[in-house]
Amino acid sequence: MSRPNKRMRFWFDTEFIDNKHTIELISIGMVSENGRTYYGVSNECDLTKADSWVQQHVLTHLPDKSSWKSRAQIREDITLFIGNNSPEFWVYNGAYDWVVFCQLFGHIRDLPKGYPWYSNDLKQLWYVLGRPQLPEQKTDAHHALHDAEWNKSAWNYLMMLWEQRYGELPF
Ligand SMILES: [Mg+2]
Repeated sequence: MSRPNKRMRFWFDTEFIDNKHTIELISIGMVSENGRTYYGVSNECDLTKADSWVQQHVLTHLPDKSSWKSRAQIREDITLFIGNNSPEFWVYNGAYDWVVFCQLFGHIRDLPKGYPWYSNDLKQLWYVLGRPQLPEQKTDAHHALHDAEWNKSAWNYLMMLWEQRYGELPF
């Protein structure tokens, strides 16, 4: 595949508690273009505020509490995970994911130098391509790392469709 830009792609997904006013990070999973993965679970989210949907679909997938980390640690981990690469972020239906990601750093303007101030949304790409059937996710949905891995496979699939149709990749 030709490559119009030199940024390194990162697919990510988050789980969070949404109380209709704010969103609070529970977990984040990230996959890099060269196949590395990161998974972090916050120890600062008040899980007693989780509604029954989050309890049932998200909390059941969390690992043992001993592996949970502070938000500052997760921020540092992600900064190291991305390293010196100029990242290109991809999410799926990810308006909330993008905000909760930025909030790890503070304001959006606190993102490290070189990070774009937006994420690309697979859902938008899916819509533009005529809403094709996407690959089935065979792992646990609503586990942030499994979802991030699915995002990457869905991206690969959509890029294949794009290339078949238009010959050249837009990204
Ligand atoms: Mg998810």
